[in-house]
Amino acid sequence: MSALSNRINNLSESATIKMAKMGRELAAKGVDVISLSFGEPDFHTPEYVKEAAKKAMDENFTYYTPVSGYPELRKAIAVKLKNENGLDYDFSQIVVSTGAKQAIANAVLCLVNPGEEVIIPTPYWVSYSEVVKLAEGKSVFINAPVEQDFKITPEQLEAAITPKSKLFMFSSPCNPTGSVYSKSELEGLAKVFERHPNIYILSDEIYEHINFVDKHESIAQFESIKDRVIIINGFSKAFAMTGWRIGYTASNKEIANACDKMQGQITSGTCSITQKAGVAASEGGLESVLKMRDAFKKRRDLVYGLLKEIDGIKVNLPDGAFYFFPDVTSFFGKSYNGKTINDADELSIYLLEEAHVATVGGDSFGDTKSIRISYAAAEDKLVEAVRRIKEALGKLK
Ligand code: PMP
Ligand code: GLU
Repeated sequence: MSALSNRINNLSESATIKMAKMGRELAAKGVDVISLSFGEPDFHTPEYVKEAAKKAMDENFTYYTPVSGYPELRKAIAVKLKNENGLDYDFSQIVVSTGAKQAIANAVLCLVNPGEEVIIPTPYWVSYSEVVKLAEGKSVFINAPVEQDFKITPEQLEAAITPKSKLFMFSSPCNPTGSVYSKSELEGLAKVFERHPNIYILSDEIYEHINFVDKHESIAQFESIKDRVIIINGFSKAFAMTGWRIGYTASNKEIANACDKMQGQITSGTCSITQKAGVAASEGGLESVLKMRDAFKKRRDLVYGLLKEIDGIKVNLPDGAFYFFPDVTSFFGKSYNGKTINDADELSIYLLEEAHVATVGGDSFGDTKSIRISYAAAEDKLVEAVRRIKEALGKLK
C-alpha cells in the first residue's frame, strides 16, 4: 500500500512537463529530438533585465523579501495594469508569486471549498483541473469545440452554473488553442456573471502580449464584475523569463491578503533577484516583447501553411499564444509496425518515437481529439519538425 496521501495519489503529473522530460531523456541517448512540447519562448531574457539582476546581487538584494513582493515591484505592476490595460489597482492588491503557476494555485486554494464547483472551458491549460483537485473542488467542464474557435458562448456559461459554482477559470489568449476572446465576447460572459454575484472569475492573461489580432482585452475591464476578477499574469512569456519564476495576481484586497497568507506558509516571497529583474522588465517598455510577438506571428503563419498540407490533420489559425491544437482523430485506429493508435496521447508518443518530435497529447487539456504543438522554436526546426510529423503520419495505415 502506498504511504502517500490520497491528495498526491489522485493528482496527475503535468503532461507538459512529462513530455518535455521524455523528449530530454531521448535526446540524452543521442537522438536528435525536436521539442515542441514545452510552452517556452526560445528567446533569451532581454539584456537590461539580466543587468538589473546582476546589479541586485551586487547590491545585496539577497535576503527574504516581503511575502507579496517588494512594494517597488508591486507598484510597477500596478502602473503596468493602468497604462497597458486601463485597469486601476492599488499596489496592495498585487501579490507576486513564484510563477503564474503559484499565483493560480494561491487563488484557487484561497477561494474553493471542498465540493464547490469550478467551471472550466475545454480545452484548458493542464494545471487548472489539477489545482482544483488539490482544493478538493469539482471541475465542471464546458466543451468549446474547434467549430466555435474553442471559445464558449454566454448561453453555455449560463447552463453550466449551479448553486455550487464558485469560480470560473480561463485563459485568453488560450493555452493550448491560441484562441483570443474579443471585447464583445468577454462582455457577453461578464453579463452572465452580473446575474450570479457569488461566482469569481480567474482570468489567466499570461499570453496577453502574444496576440496577433488586436490589443489585449481583460474581463476585468467590466466594472460591474471587476471586484470578483482575479487577474493572473507574469513575466515568463512576455519577457522570456520562464526560469526566473515570477508571476502575480491582481484582485480585490480580501483575496490578495488571503494569497499573501497562503504563500507565507508555503514559499514566502519569490526570489529577491528575480523581483529586481521584474521591476526592470516592467519599466523597460515593450520593444523586446513586440519583437518576439512578430517572430511568433511569422512562425505561426509558416507552421499553419505546413500543417494544412498534411492529410488528415484539421487545424485552425490561432489568434495568439504560440500553440497549434490540431484535431488528429482521423489517425485513430490506424497502425504502423504492429502498433495501433487509439487516441491523441498515443499519437503524441508515436510522434516522439517515430518522428523524434515532442508534442503533448490533448487528454490533459481536456480534449482527447487533438495534440498540442508549440511553435516557440526556430523556423528551421519547425520546418524540419513538421516534415517529420508528416512523414510519420503518412506511415499510419
Ligand atoms: N498559465 C498558462 C496558461 C500557462 O501556459 C503557463 C505556463 N507558462 C502558466 C500559467 C504558468 O506560467 P509561469 O508559472 O511560468 O509564470
Ligand atoms: N506553461 C507551459 C506549457 O504549457 C510550461 C509548462 C508548464 O509550466 O506546465 O507548456
